[in-house]
Amino acid sequence: SVVLELRGVLLERQATLDDAVFQLRALRQVARLLSSVHSSEETERLILDFMAEVFFTRWACLYRPSGKEFIPAVFRSRDDADPPRPIPHSDFENALPPGSLVTTSDNVAIASLLPAGTELVVPLDAGAERLAVLVLGPGLNERPYGRAEHELAGTLAFAAAIALKNAELVERLHSAATTDELTGLYNRRALEERLEAELSRAVRHELNTSVVLIDIDRFKPINDTLGHAAGDRLLILLADTLQQQCRTLDTVGRLGGDEFLVVLPMTSADEAMVFVRRVQKQVKMIGEEHPEFGNQTISLGIGECPRHGANVSTILAAADRALYHAKRSGRNTVAIAEETS
Ligand code: GH3
Ligand code: MG
Repeated sequence: SVVLELRGVLLERQATLDDAVFQLRALRQVARLLSSVHSSEETERLILDFMAEVFFTRWACLYRPSGKEFIPAVFRSRDDADPPRPIPHSDFENALPPGSLVTTSDNVAIASLLPAGTELVVPLDAGAERLAVLVLGPGLNERPYGRAEHELAGTLAFAAAIALKNAELVERLHSAATTDELTGLYNRRALEERLEAELSRAVRHELNTSVVLIDIDRFKPINDTLGHAAGDRLLILLADTLQQQCRTLDTVGRLGGDEFLVVLPMTSADEAMVFVRRVQKQVKMIGEEHPEFGNQTISLGIGECPRHGANVSTILAAADRALYHAKRSGRNTVAIAEETS
């Protein structure tokens, strides 16, 4: 009987050790997840798949705040169940204030908001900010989650929240580096990068790509008479117009000041003229809809790759010469670059 007792103790120790090893593996895996940068969407999916695997759960859902709701951003179910409904933000926050720990469906206020069969509710908080809420259904082995699992969920949630926050920060940094703050268009740097890629594709496949350089006529007087804020409004109106008038393949950006550039892949200079006519017509509409901008006009210069240049600086220089020509010939007009020899 002593031997049997010893065997029992050993088995119990073994089980505890197995648990610890399992938890360490999970931690190592989540650390790996943290150490590489993914998009927010990818991170959401990785977190859900990872947690569903660690907890061996029948279904799992990751809710993310969006406007006034928590929406089921990712949902996985072994039974092909439909994803749950969104939950009003305030209901969720009231039932589960930021800083809450892992909760079970014994909490009636939370259970009433979540799908039937919810077992574990795991908030993913970074400080006071609720980044997500992970909801786990029952385990596939029908065993209720124990204390060790609650603790593991809390630890992993902490790491997962950091991963989500990182992804968000990287995305925000990237967008700040490539976006013109006033108009939301590409900035010069991002635009030149896109143009470079587009030109090398055009040369490789022997296709034409055109660029259209656009500059507002006598913009300075707008600032001087109507004020800088009105000038900004006009820049935004023109940015929106350019974006509305081009195709999804085209790229619109603001080079700086009152100068914009549109890259039109697989387009000759003559075809770019069709785009230019549409833009000119819309600019006239701006004047009609916003009388303060009266008879506002723009000047445009067109360069075509490879005819007028086959790299970023030569094609931009060609379009710039054409624009200069348009300005010199009285503004409110468009010019195509001259052939280079
Ligand atoms: P032109 O017909 O020769 O183009 O004359 P212009 O008055 O438009 O001259 P120019 O293009 O050189 O003027 C650009 C002006 O744009 C000068 C600058 O004060 C103004 N500007 C540059 N950036 C901004 C901005 O972000 N907001 C506003 N409101 N004005 C800006
Ligand atoms: Mg100008």
